[in-house]
Amino acid sequence: MILTVSDPDAASGSTEVGGALAAVRDGIAAKCRAVGRDPAGVALIAVSKTHGPEPIAAAIAAGQRHFGENRVQEAAAKWPAIRATSSDIRLHLIGPLQTNKVSDAVALFDVIHTLDRPRLAEKLAEEMARQARRLPCFIQINTGREAQKAGIDPAEADAFIAVARETWKLDVTGLMCIPPLNEQAAIHFAFLREIAARNGLAQLSMGMSDDFETAIAFGATHIRVGSAIFGMRV
Ligand SMILES: *Cc1c(COP(=O)(O)O)cnc(C)c1O
Repeated sequence: MILTVSDPDAASGSTEVGGALAAVRDGIAAKCRAVGRDPAGVALIAVSKTHGPEPIAAAIAAGQRHFGENRVQEAAAKWPAIRATSSDIRLHLIGPLQTNKVSDAVALFDVIHTLDRPRLAEKLAEEMARQARRLPCFIQINTGREAQKAGIDPAEADAFIAVARETWKLDVTGLMCIPPLNEQAAIHFAFLREIAARNGLAQLSMGMSDDFETAIAFGATHIRVGSAIFGMRV
């Protein structure tokens, strides 16, 4: 894209967000072609955490509908007003969920990507029943077994998936992971895919700005992309 000084949009953030979004979509399409996948099978979640209403409005104007936030309070402050003007938004919770925020999260979000412990499964089941809202949930797996990272230990994944489904009757649609920073993401994506396959789970939430193309090659159905769309977090 070539911008000239006379272009009235040259300095505007909305042009940047629209252009960045188009570039990410092109990257998704190219990778899907390369690995023989249908791009319709990859949902792009625009991660808008820390970004205000203007860049989000620019993304919506450019056709973006899936958005991700990592904090319930921040999302509660930002999204009701935006949703009032765009009814077909799908809001994804991609950050850790404290049990005392479950009620707000179930009311506000459409998909939970961070089901990561038994107590949370119980709370989500209770609250979804109370609000009569059955949200699809991804179970977060700590594929790198990092002490500081949330997620179910891979060795306990099968048992936890069974409890979430059978005891708590949650709508478990897939698995999510955040690979360790200093390791090959591909190994973790392949591992997550294997756990999902043996448990009959079709969806994989994996891949961020730096590695979404690799994630697509390993079967990602939901990629979570922030800085490649909105720039540096503010
Ligand atoms: C912030 C965040 C992302 C997006 O990261 P980028 O590198 O900016 O694309 C994806 N997933 C989770 C869980 C995040 O917290």
